[in-house]
Amino acid sequence: MRTRPTEIAQKLKEITEQGLFSARSGNIPTWCPGCGYFGIHHGLTTAIHKMGLKHHEVVIVSGIGCAGRYPFFSSTYGLHTVHGRALPVATGVKLARPELTVFAVGGDGDGLGIGGGHLPHIARRNVDVNYILFDNSIYGLTKGQPSPSSPLGFKTKASPQGTKDQPLNGTLMALSYGATFVARLFAGNPDQIAEVLTQAVQHKGFAFLHVYTSCVTFDKEFKTWEHLKKWVHPLPKDHETSDIKQAIVLAMDDPFAMGIIYKKARRLGPPENGG
Ligand code: SF4
Ligand code: MG
Repeated sequence: MRTRPTEIAQKLKEITEQGLFSARSGNIPTWCPGCGYFGIHHGLTTAIHKMGLKHHEVVIVSGIGCAGRYPFFSSTYGLHTVHGRALPVATGVKLARPELTVFAVGGDGDGLGIGGGHLPHIARRNVDVNYILFDNSIYGLTKGQPSPSSPLGFKTKASPQGTKDQPLNGTLMALSYGATFVARLFAGNPDQIAEVLTQAVQHKGFAFLHVYTSCVTFDKEFKTWEHLKKWVHPLPKDHETSDIKQAIVLAMDDPFAMGIIYKKARRLGPPENGG
């Protein structure tokens, strides 16, 4: 059933009155209509609003790519940095101003390809940064090449016979290197994104939010809305978020289970006595 313009206007009025748009800047996002990034944007701005974070106490750091434009669309502070370098810059911001709430945002090409070498280090150091990986398994800004998370055999104009490489599992990578908060989320569920982000901000340590999203312009065969809506499902009811072994098995065997996969308290900074 199609939503009528009057219903859209009413919904918009409600959202505006609730203040959910307050963390948005006056710049209208330039993403393609239907892009999953709108859902992530709604989740993050809702979380900022609901937590009552003051906009001047929040910094959003991005790299390069369609997701790299994110800071322009937010009324918080922001840094649009170099390709793949959101995490080291976010680390620097947090070290210099520990009282600020810091988010790093970026796509799968930016975060797992060009910047893939930074994820292990921010995870093992447990820096108190919230990293949102917008994973649509394709390079969108450069018009549709396969990325490190593209599935085997994925056809694009840069891989007309299908990719020959196994995909990289970002969730597993973050768990392997000691991330203390790891969640998998779906761009089509901004309410869950907002809820989990709230918990991620309260968590003291590195939080990795792996968001599956759709590139409607360049991917017509894999992470389409139609497929993602069919594939995503909640975590098993008996999943124990403090059990690293369960988390690792789930990350490997159930790639479309959504929710907080792992959460563990660990002290920030280097261990005492070298242990
Ligand atoms: Fe979104 Fe793809 Fe358009 Fe980029 S190219 S804005 S990822 S739909
Ligand atoms: Mg991408």
